[in-house]
Amino acid sequence: MKIGIPKEIKNNENRVGMTPAGVFELIKNNHTVYVQSTAGEGSGFFDADYENVGATILPTIQDVYAQSDMIVKVKEPIEEEYPLVKENQVVFTYFHFASSEALTLAMLKSNAVCIAYETVEDDEGTLPLLTPMSEVAGRMAIQQGAKYLEKPIKGKGILLGGVPGVPPGKVLILGAGVVGIQAAKMAAGLGAHVTILDVNMKRLRYVNDIMPNHVVTEFSSEFNIRKHIKTHDLVIGGVLLKGAKAPKLITRDMLKEMHPGAVIVDVAVDQGGCIETTKATTHEDPTFIIDDVVHYCVANMPGAVPYTSTVALTNVTLPYILKLANKGWEVACKEDEGLEKGLNIVHGKCVYDEIAEAFGWNV
Ligand code: NAD
Repeated sequence: MKIGIPKEIKNNENRVGMTPAGVFELIKNNHTVYVQSTAGEGSGFFDADYENVGATILPTIQDVYAQSDMIVKVKEPIEEEYPLVKENQVVFTYFHFASSEALTLAMLKSNAVCIAYETVEDDEGTLPLLTPMSEVAGRMAIQQGAKYLEKPIKGKGILLGGVPGVPPGKVLILGAGVVGIQAAKMAAGLGAHVTILDVNMKRLRYVNDIMPNHVVTEFSSEFNIRKHIKTHDLVIGGVLLKGAKAPKLITRDMLKEMHPGAVIVDVAVDQGGCIETTKATTHEDPTFIIDDVVHYCVANMPGAVPYTSTVALTNVTLPYILKLANKGWEVACKEDEGLEKGLNIVHGKCVYDEIAEAFGWNV
C-alpha cells in the first residue's frame, strides 16, 4: 500500500503522523511511504531521517495526497485540505467530527474512508489512541502548575517540593483517571503533598495501592472539595464523564476560599472544564486571573511538547496502521472490533451514530 504522511498545517501543530521508526516498520512490510518535505521537523525528525529508513520525500502536500492510498496524520484536515482527500482514500487521524459540521460534510463529499483515532476502542472499551495525550497532559499539568506558582508570573511564590525546613506545596487533583494519576505521579516525585479525589472507588483503591504515602485519596464530594481548596496551592482538573460535559466541581464563589496566587490547571477544558471560571486558552497566552487565582486552561497541552507527543501517539497508532496497510481497511476492521469503532465516515455515509446525532441528522 502507498501511505502518505503530510505536514500538519493547522496553526501551531508541530506533531507529525509517523516517526522514522514507524516508517521503518511499514517499509519492512513492503509498503511505500511518502513523507512531505519538513513534515517531521517540528517534532525533531528531519527528511534525511525518513529517507534513511526508505521513505520517499515529496515536495508538496498535494503530491502526498495525490499519490497515497492511505493518509496518516495527527489533526483533522482543515479547509485547505478538504479538496485533497480522494475517493476511496483511507484517512487515519483525530477527526472530532461532532465539533465541525463543515469537516463532516466535506469528508462525506470526498467519498473517502475516515477512521478516527478518538473512537478506536480496545478490549476493555477504553480509548487507546487518546490515552497517550492524557498521559502527556497529566504530567505537563504539574510542570505548568509549578511554573505558574512562581511569584513573577503572579503565583503564590511556592516551590512545590519545599526545601529542608520548609514544608512542600499542596496539590489537589480532581479525577483519578489517566490525567489524574500521571499528575499525581509527577507531583509526588517533586515531593509535593498530594490529595486526589474521584467518585470511582476502584480508581481510588488503585491509586492508594501504587502511590507513595504522601498521595492521599479521598472521595470526591462538594464538601471535600470545599474543604481542600482552602489549603491547597495547585488544583488540577482531570475529570471526565464519557460523552458529556465535565461537571463544574469548583464554582465561581469557591475561588474566594482559595489562597491568592493559588493556581488551577484545568486539563478538562476540552470538555468544557471542571471549574466554572474556565475558558479555553492557548500556548501563546495560557493564563488568566480571577479573584487572584491563576487559571491555566490550554486546550491542546500536548502541542507544546511535540517530540514526546508524536512518539507517544505513534507508539499506539502504529499497530493499527500496520493492520490497515497489510490487510486493507475492510478486513482489518472486520477482524478487530475495536478498530471498526474508529470508522466514522465510509464512502459518503456517516456510520457513527453520535456524529449524526450531534448535527440533528436522522440516524
Ligand atoms: P479518564 O476517563 O481516564 O479519567 C476521568 C476520571 O474522572 C475518572 O476516573 C472518573 O471517575 C473521574 N470523575 C468523574 N466524575 C468525577 C467527579 N465528580 N469528581 C472526581 N472525579 C470524577 O479521563 P482522562 O483521560 O484522564 O481525561 C481527563 C480530561 O482531560 C478529559 O476531559 C480529556 O479530554 C482531557 N484532556 C485534555 C487535554 C488538554 O490538552 N487540555 C489533553 C488530554 C486530555
